[in-house]
Amino acid sequence: MSEDKTESRRKFLTGSAAIAGATALGANISAAYAQDQGYVLDVPPVISMEINDTTDRFPVRRVFCLGRNYRAHAIESGDNPDETPPFFFIKPRDAVVPATDGFPYPQGTSELRYEAELVVALHSGGKNIDAADALDHVYAYGVSLDMTREDLQHVAQELSRPWAISKSFDHSAPCGPLTTVTGNGHVVDGRIWLTVNGEIKQDSDLNLQRWSVSEGIAILSQYYELRAGDIILTGTPEGIGLVNKGDVIKVGIESLGQIEVEVT
Ligand code: MN
Repeated sequence: MSEDKTESRRKFLTGSAAIAGATALGANISAAYAQDQGYVLDVPPVISMEINDTTDRFPVRRVFCLGRNYRAHAIESGDNPDETPPFFFIKPRDAVVPATDGFPYPQGTSELRYEAELVVALHSGGKNIDAADALDHVYAYGVSLDMTREDLQHVAQELSRPWAISKSFDHSAPCGPLTTVTGNGHVVDGRIWLTVNGEIKQDSDLNLQRWSVSEGIAILSQYYELRAGDIILTGTPEGIGLVNKGDVIKVGIESLGQIEVEVT
């Protein structure tokens, strides 16, 4: 390995340029790394999230999502929350994009839905985690959107097919910067709200989650070995609806701040 390539590889493994991902420099470093390691393609960029009060970034491993985790939203979605518990689905890690990038209206849909959500970022994990210990695995919290192609979801629901095509598309999880537990403590209650063009659409409280963050981590770990870098979108309250090109969505969570996403 030449000195240049060694340096490139070191930067790829440790540097912010490659983590930023889409830059030309990042692509070059990735290509050099691919050649060195015998990969036939450029190595995909690390997907990462901004963290408040530091230039360090949080690398994303997997994206778990909770469905129907607020009683009133479960009811508006046609569930009987006395009979059906929340559930999980997954998005690809590169669904995670900075909220500040704007949100390109996705292909394949004419019914694009917003869902305001608290995101939880893990710095450790395991199997069969006790709810009492679950918050020890949380590194940070943030504000996010679970964007949904509602028309495709309805088709999937009618045919009893998976939701993937409605939930797991490119850019479908715009996120704000993370706020660390070290700096701000755990976020177990507080207002969560969403506006479209300044009009309030969702307005609830995190303490109305059916599975708390602790319970969500504990239950998820009964089915997956959770790992550092995993994030969990913890479900949306009632008031979901559709947005169009040009609409501006704002999502806020008490103690975490707010994000603003323009549909472009
Ligand atoms: Mn959701």
